[in-house]
Amino acid sequence: MKKIPIYQPSVTELEISYAVDAVKNGWGENCYAYIKRFEKDFAAYTGSSYSLATSSCTGAIHLALAAMGVKAGDEVIMGDINWIASAAPITYLGAKPVFVDVLEDSWCIDPSKIEAAITEKTKVILAVDLYGNLAEMDQIVAIAKKHNLYVLEDAAEALGSVFRGKKAGSWGDIGVFSFHGAKIMTTGEGGMLVTDNAALMERVRILSDHGRDPKVNRTFWMAELGYKYKMSNLQAAMGCAQLERVDELVNKRRDIFNWYTEYLADLPGIVLNPEPSYTINCYWMPTIVFDKALNIEAHEVINYLKEQNIDSRPFFYPLSSLPMFEKAEENKVSYNLYKRALNLPSNFSLTREDIKQVCQAIRTYVNKVLVPVN
Ligand SMILES: *Cc1c(COP(=O)(O)O)cnc(C)c1O
Repeated sequence: MKKIPIYQPSVTELEISYAVDAVKNGWGENCYAYIKRFEKDFAAYTGSSYSLATSSCTGAIHLALAAMGVKAGDEVIMGDINWIASAAPITYLGAKPVFVDVLEDSWCIDPSKIEAAITEKTKVILAVDLYGNLAEMDQIVAIAKKHNLYVLEDAAEALGSVFRGKKAGSWGDIGVFSFHGAKIMTTGEGGMLVTDNAALMERVRILSDHGRDPKVNRTFWMAELGYKYKMSNLQAAMGCAQLERVDELVNKRRDIFNWYTEYLADLPGIVLNPEPSYTINCYWMPTIVFDKALNIEAHEVINYLKEQNIDSRPFFYPLSSLPMFEKAEENKVSYNLYKRALNLPSNFSLTREDIKQVCQAIRTYVNKVLVPVN
């Protein structure tokens, strides 16, 4: 049986031609040309006023939090089930991530749990759109307004998703994206920060250039310490090409997801990524959650699929269960969910037949564990 990898980017002659052009011509006075174009086109795509290309989404999160004024001793509220990259930059600033439980259906932060976690140290609510699913951004923004907090929307996994008519990443005071090789769109490594807030953007620009304030006309003079998280022109060239193809990329993910839905439709006791009527899901990672009653351990399914030459990956752990954070076992949904959920292959080269085969393997596994052997 041929191997089915979990993810792989889609690279065409367009990406190659832009990258070759950047290598040949993207120097001297052209050294920012693709970066400027990528930032402009990306802002237009998300419907945002300002954008900054970065070397990673982790860097964009660090810049965003610093621009929002997060400092030592502050708190940032986020959902417990998440990738470490959303939480780590909080600690770079000496602040503390406060983990609240996630919703059973979208696996994103539970808005009803946010207010109880707000203290006088809270500065930001960090809402992550997990696996393409959308956080309840309207409720989150309303809570933040009421308590005078910033919202940072981490849409690294939700490029192309839409919440109530607005693109993922455009709901928060700042939105961030990732172009790591496993994401929907890639530049190898890379990220993007978007915002409509001119004052925040000015802070982001200064902090992203080692604290250099463009309004201060004094070469090599810094009034404060900043960071450097720039994207290269070469990476931006690839980004321009991928962005031209973004609808095609998202549509392929949606096709793959729909094939999973079709071939798993009659398998009882499972759910896949939700798509409420007021959202469009880019389905970055097709994810299957087994009902508690089935008593299926996700890691055993992963092992079984591996024997069939099919790659899959575990759901994220609750971040509060990792050794560097305080346990938050009161987050009941998070602490139960991850054990019975896994991500399925979604790479761009997959065909309907491949997905049918993955679904057949899942079905065989489920039937095997459900039928008692005498
Ligand atoms: C991938 C990812 C990041 C980090 O992106 P990098 O570009 O690898 O730094 C941050 N947040 C989420 C939700 C991610 O999935």
